[in-house]
Amino acid sequence: MRVTWTGGELTFRLDPEDEITGKASDEHPVKLATNSCSIGGVPDDAHPDLFAVAAWTVVAPWTRGRVSFDRAVSAEVAAALHDGWGVEAGPVGAEARQAGRTLAISYSGGADSVAAATIYPEAPFLHFQRVPHRRIPNRWPHYRSDVLAKLAATTGRQVTTVTSDLEYTLAEPRPGYPEHHAVAAGALLLADRLDLGGLGFGYELGSRWLGGGRYLHRYTADNPMWAPHGKWGRLFAAVGVHLVLPVGGVSEAITMRVALDSELRGHVRWCLRGTDGPCRTCGKCLYKELIQAAVERRPLDTPITADRPIARKWLRKPPYGGQEMIEYGLARVPGIEKTLFAPALDYFEATEESTSWLDHCYPPAIDEIPAPWRDQAAAFMTAEVGFMTEAEARRVETWGS
Ligand SMILES: [Zn+2]
Repeated sequence: MRVTWTGGELTFRLDPEDEITGKASDEHPVKLATNSCSIGGVPDDAHPDLFAVAAWTVVAPWTRGRVSFDRAVSAEVAAALHDGWGVEAGPVGAEARQAGRTLAISYSGGADSVAAATIYPEAPFLHFQRVPHRRIPNRWPHYRSDVLAKLAATTGRQVTTVTSDLEYTLAEPRPGYPEHHAVAAGALLLADRLDLGGLGFGYELGSRWLGGGRYLHRYTADNPMWAPHGKWGRLFAAVGVHLVLPVGGVSEAITMRVALDSELRGHVRWCLRGTDGPCRTCGKCLYKELIQAAVERRPLDTPITADRPIARKWLRKPPYGGQEMIEYGLARVPGIEKTLFAPALDYFEATEESTSWLDHCYPPAIDEIPAPWRDQAAAFMTAEVGFMTEAEARRVETWGS
């Protein structure tokens, strides 16, 4: 793989051994659509390691044996790429970047992201906004990234919005981040300007420890994407921008409660369809409604009926990502047996007691937050959430086994 940056324009050329259909770090197959993309609102004089890692968040799935950058990188970044992915990276010849002092939040506007932001009221926001690609037709006009960007701009925080078409480098399964970390590509290029030492993400307990999302659905202490000692954690640390998961120890029930109790409540938006509120009719809205109803101890309020295809996703036989929150909702939503979730009751014996671990914070998640920002997260969890008992922590550690 050969990588070239011209300002915020990234172009990459595959080597003979590279592949058009690659695998992201979560093992999900991703097919390449085009070999260029751009990032707007970033400086052109960032540290060369920052350009290298920003590019790697896009090209990693398709790279096999080596990656050549257009400017020399540090030995530390080359070593992290070699140890993590087995690729030869070069040329080598730069001094490593030192970590800055500021923690910024990678802010999406979703409940998890808002909860992470609530823990650090002084942290600036970096917001990634999808924009159309100049050569790839946009067949997803319902995806209202402009609405999210406007909401992010009115939170009262210092917000830097990065615009990018990098999601259109993916042909399949659909436009999206080649690696989850591509959401940080613009943040990396801004790291010198913002004096970044850490970047906070809204990934919660399921994503960090339970192999949620597109991933394994079992306990993942060594999660390659989000563990600080995983390959991405080490690569980001090598450029002085530590991965920080402020809500990595709590479930989506807690992030939902924290977000809806926060002063950013009016800015929470997890659905990318619709312009003045969640659409209420997509699968994500249904999933979030189950969690919100559980948190608010009220009946389910949804126009979605059991015959809709989007309902089926959450009514399958386990295991699947987000299963812990389905159990949580089944145990807590009044009248759930009279809703479209009734068939799921056959798969679980969920009770309030058996799901109470999802109301507390998993202590190792706080331990792995870098020292400059750890105490603040610990104090927040002590005051607002409470920590898991050893028996509850064992529920995390035996998940999926
Ligand atoms: Zn929706």
